[in-house]
Amino acid sequence: MTDQLLIGGIVSLTTVDYPGYIASVIFLQGCPWRCIYCHNPHLQTMAPTESLPWEDVLRLLNTRKNFVEAVVFSGGEPLIQGEALLLAINDVKNIGYKIGIHTAGAYPDKLAKILPLLDWVGFDIKHEFKDYALITNIEGSGEVALKSLRMVIASGVQFEVRMTLHESIPQESIVKTLKELASMGVKTVALQKCRDKNENIIEHPIFSDRLLIENISKCFDNFYIRG
Ligand code: SF4
Repeated sequence: MTDQLLIGGIVSLTTVDYPGYIASVIFLQGCPWRCIYCHNPHLQTMAPTESLPWEDVLRLLNTRKNFVEAVVFSGGEPLIQGEALLLAINDVKNIGYKIGIHTAGAYPDKLAKILPLLDWVGFDIKHEFKDYALITNIEGSGEVALKSLRMVIASGVQFEVRMTLHESIPQESIVKTLKELASMGVKTVALQKCRDKNENIIEHPIFSDRLLIENISKCFDNFYIRG
């Protein structure tokens, strides 16, 4: 039932959450991971103090369709909401929007059902797959993320991989991860600067090594640094 969708918030206009398109972002409640730098801890729980009714969100989206091109489901980890998310995506597609999703790949089985409905995926990478738990605090998170990423690559759906460079991630792990992504067929990568709880950028030392960053960038068709 779409009315079971737990919505933590909505941004009605953004140009950065679905590259190349003017989008609205719907933030869904719930995430099984506990990343050390999470900026949306209020979205981790499945028990929000208040959830926006889906009908209200749909009404808003209907009024925006002349100037908004896409709707992105973000989180939290939106895939946690499984069937309710699938129904919501269908509702939004029926209005005529492109559909994007932000995911870290925590639920490969749910992703498999939803992928055919998507136009774009923003896929978060946390660390080397074997060391995911150092960021997520959840054992086995790297294995499910790798499975999900392989699925996205094989699907043919457009996607971007993003990696937030927390200061605890060793430089050699970042380089290894990026080389692995390139060898898997990832074409678009964005390296994101980490922010502390006060929104101050804690820049990873790798960003000072311009030659290394330039060499890494050559592994991908599209390479961005966001901070
Ligand atoms: S996956 Fe995203 S929402 Fe979940 S804990 Fe990590 S940063 Fe927060």
